[in-house]
Amino acid sequence: MSRPAKIIIDLAAIQANCRLAQTLAPHSKTIAVVKADAYGHGAVEVAKALEAQIEMFAVSCLEEALVLRENALSKPILLLEGCFDKSELEIAADNQFELVVHNGLQLEQLLDTRFETPLNIWLKIDTGMHRLGVSLQQFESIYARLSASENVKNIVLMTHFAHADDVGGAYTLMQIGRLEKCMQPIVADASKKVQLSLANSAALLAWPQTRVEWNRPGIMLYGLSPFDEVIDQAKQLIPAMNFESQVIALRDISVGESVGYGCNWTAKRQSIIATIAVGYGDGYPRSAKSGTPVLINGHRAPLVGRVSMDLISVDVTDLQNVHIGDPAILWGKDLSANEVASWADSIGYELVTRMPKRAAITFLN
Ligand SMILES: *Cc1c(COP(=O)(O)O)cnc(C)c1O
Repeated sequence: MSRPAKIIIDLAAIQANCRLAQTLAPHSKTIAVVKADAYGHGAVEVAKALEAQIEMFAVSCLEEALVLRENALSKPILLLEGCFDKSELEIAADNQFELVVHNGLQLEQLLDTRFETPLNIWLKIDTGMHRLGVSLQQFESIYARLSASENVKNIVLMTHFAHADDVGGAYTLMQIGRLEKCMQPIVADASKKVQLSLANSAALLAWPQTRVEWNRPGIMLYGLSPFDEVIDQAKQLIPAMNFESQVIALRDISVGESVGYGCNWTAKRQSIIATIAVGYGDGYPRSAKSGTPVLINGHRAPLVGRVSMDLISVDVTDLQNVHIGDPAILWGKDLSANEVASWADSIGYELVTRMPKRAAITFLN
């Protein structure tokens, strides 16, 4: 038998989550965001599972896009940060990747290069996130230069929301207002049919007015809600990453005895402690505090003491009949990575995305 820590990715859950996005936005096209190895879920396998269902993929960079192409994924691919230098442009053009242009330098590089076939460009406008995107003032002139270039086939305008998880909040309304205002001169020109892409998962789920031509769902595809509170639209999401291991030791601990490194948890009652074969070396967050729920035989029990590289300890005193070999679920369908993350000063996004390549990964169709 091998070390029991393992990751099981439910590809059917990812397909169902994507269908939910599409049901909410029946008039939009879907760009499945599979950057960062599909948020740690395996980009190639996830992309293969979604390919028939979506119009396009989005990744962060050229390398991530090439991995998809090398694995026979033929749908269009958008590079969300565009090209980092001129040498990347040629490779992107050879592969017909679609490019975000978010600043003046990328614009100049694009206009300076000669391509055999023009490219589709996604012009990113900074409406308030203030990381990437051309400014509201620059927008019109940059749009005009792109429109005039022989290198450019189609232009889609995009922006990214900073606080769409604040349902009904003023900041998203302000961003939408700024976008509408800066687009006015273009929209007024009836010869131009403007296409837009606005929504990430939070916007798609909670802001119907952002469900425009192209949506960009990421985290929801993996079954994690982007909201802190429970919202109806997110209730049907099915977490796709199941992170599991087993009980490999059990011991009785007397009052006053401590468990784990640093002796920072001490038994206040006669306790039964289960040792689970999983630790920060497998991606379980070291910052998880005593009390973080772990499912042992399907029942919640609290983590106690420090998380080690290979092991954690769980107080199973209140559970009946725990044995060596019993299953332990760190997160999955019945325990969201978001909930675990809340005990570790993190978010579900981070936990699933930063899994090391240690625990064996299996894909279920
Ligand atoms: C990552 C990313 C997304 C997806 O965001 P989620 O919150 O995971 O849905 C959408 N758009 C852009 C520009 C991104 O970088």
